[in-house]
Amino acid sequence: MKKTIRDIDVSGKKVLVRCDFNVPMQNGEITDDIRITSALPTIRYLIENNAAVILMSHMGRPKGEPKPEFTLKPVAERLQKLLGQEIIFAQSDVVVDAGVEAAAAALKPGQVMLLENVRYRKEETKNEEPFTGQLAALGEIFVNDAFGTAHRAHCSTAGLAAYMPAVSGFLIEKEVKFLGDALEEPERPFVAIMGGAKVGDKIPVIKNLMKKVDTLLIGGGMTYTFIKAMGYDIGTSLLDEESIDLAGELLAQARHDGVNLMIPVDSVCAREFSNDSEKIVCDSTAMADGYMGMDIGPKTVELYSDVIAKAKTVVWNGPCGVFEMPNFEGGTKAIAQALADSDAVTIIGGGDSAAAVEQFGVADKMTHISTGGGASLEFLEGKELPGIVCLEEK
Ligand code: AMP
Repeated sequence: MKKTIRDIDVSGKKVLVRCDFNVPMQNGEITDDIRITSALPTIRYLIENNAAVILMSHMGRPKGEPKPEFTLKPVAERLQKLLGQEIIFAQSDVVVDAGVEAAAAALKPGQVMLLENVRYRKEETKNEEPFTGQLAALGEIFVNDAFGTAHRAHCSTAGLAAYMPAVSGFLIEKEVKFLGDALEEPERPFVAIMGGAKVGDKIPVIKNLMKKVDTLLIGGGMTYTFIKAMGYDIGTSLLDEESIDLAGELLAQARHDGVNLMIPVDSVCAREFSNDSEKIVCDSTAMADGYMGMDIGPKTVELYSDVIAKAKTVVWNGPCGVFEMPNFEGGTKAIAQALADSDAVTIIGGGDSAAAVEQFGVADKMTHISTGGGASLEFLEGKELPGIVCLEEK
C-alpha cells in the first residue's frame, strides 16, 4: 500500500502537487473542467492542513517550448473561482526562474500557487536534469495526484520522488484502490469487456486479464482479427494482420485455461465506414461480401448482457462498436445499460469507454470511472506505473 497525504505531516510544509489539469480547450476557453474539480479534494485537504501548496501540471503537447496556446493561466483562473481563494499563477516561459523561486519561498501555509505548463521544458518528458532539481528546490514533499500521466516517468510525475518524501493524493489513491482491488481480490464472477480498435495495444491486457477473469467479452473493431484467426471471412472489416497469430494463441490459451473468452456471434455491418451507409446484421460465421462489421449484433448483445447481469465485478475498456455514429452506437449503448442495471462493482477504464457512459447518461451508475485511458490500460496489463511505484510504501 502506498502512503497518501493522510500518512504524512504536511503542516507548515511546502508541498509540490502534480495534478492532471490537461483540460480540453477551445479558443482559449476551458470546455470541460472535470479534471480541475476532481483535483479539489486533495488541494482542499492540503490547505486545511496548513500546507503551502505548489501545483504542477502539463497541458497539451508544447513539445518542450513555451507556446501561449498551452499556458495554464486559464486553469489558474478557473481554479481560483472553484476554490474561492487566490491562486498565484507563476507565469514563466521556463517554468522555474528566480521570480518563481522567490514566490515559492514567500508562499505561506494555506496559500496556493500554480506553476506554468511543465511541458514548456524539454527535460520534462525525458525525466532529465536540471529541471527536476529546479522543481525540487521549490518544495519539501511531493504529492502525485495525476493518474492520467502515472504511466510516464517524467520529472514532475516520478523524478521528484528521488528528492523528497513522495505520497499519493486522493485521486491516485482511489484509482489504485478500485483498479487494484478488481485485479487482486475481485468478487466473482469477474467479467472484463475489451473493445476498441487497436488490437495490438490490447493483446497484452487481454493476456493479463485472462489470468484473472472468469469471462472475457470481446467487442469493437478488434473482434474481426479474432474471427479471422478462427478461420472465417470478415469482409472489409478492420483487420490487424500482425495480430492474427496472437489472437489465435489467445483463443487457444483460453480453451486451455478454461477461461470463457467470448467473441461476438453477430455484427451490425455496413458497406462504408459512414453513418449513412445501409446497415445489415450478419452472423460472424457468414459475413456478407463487401461489408464491414461496425458494431456487435443483437444476439451478441443478449449473450453479453446475460453474462454482465450475473457478474459481481466488471471492468470495461473500449467501445463495442463505432459509437460515435448514431447508427452504430447500439451495441455500446446496450452494454453501458447492462452495466448500469447490474449490482456488480463496475469499473470503466478511461478513454472512449468513459466517453461512452457519459454519452449514454449512465456515468453516475458506475462504481468507478478511471481518469486515465493509457494509465488504466497499463495498470490492467499488470505493468508497474512509474508515477505510482516511486511513492513511499506504508
Ligand atoms: P481504441 O482507441 O482502441 O479503444 O478504439 C476506439 C475506437 O474504436 C473508437 O473510435 C471506435 O469508433 C472504434 N471502433 C469500435 N468498433 C469498431 C469497428 N467495428 N470498426 C472500426 N472501428 C471501431
